[in-house]
Amino acid sequence: MSGSRPCRCLLRETGEQEIYESVKAYVDALPEQMRTSEEVYQSRLGLCRQCEQLLSGMCVKCGCFVEARAAKAAQRCPSVPPRW
Ligand code: SF4
Repeated sequence: MSGSRPCRCLLRETGEQEIYESVKAYVDALPEQMRTSEEVYQSRLGLCRQCEQLLSGMCVKCGCFVEARAAKAAQRCPSVPPRW
């Protein structure tokens, strides 16, 4: 990432606006039936924010941007046991 320090934060909080916008566009384009509800989405992201595997919006376990992974209903947290 362009010079920003790694943080235990979501992509939207890193200041990497361009990457965040592309992830958001991906999430917004998901068909409704594939998406989590907003309540579940925010709950998942809240758990990621408390997780030591989160680094600058990315899950170190799976390499996904959590804001994309958490948006898909069929996805699970890759941790064992899963946190969500
Ligand atoms: S291990 Fe699970 S809770 Fe932790 S950052 Fe990855 S997806 Fe989120």
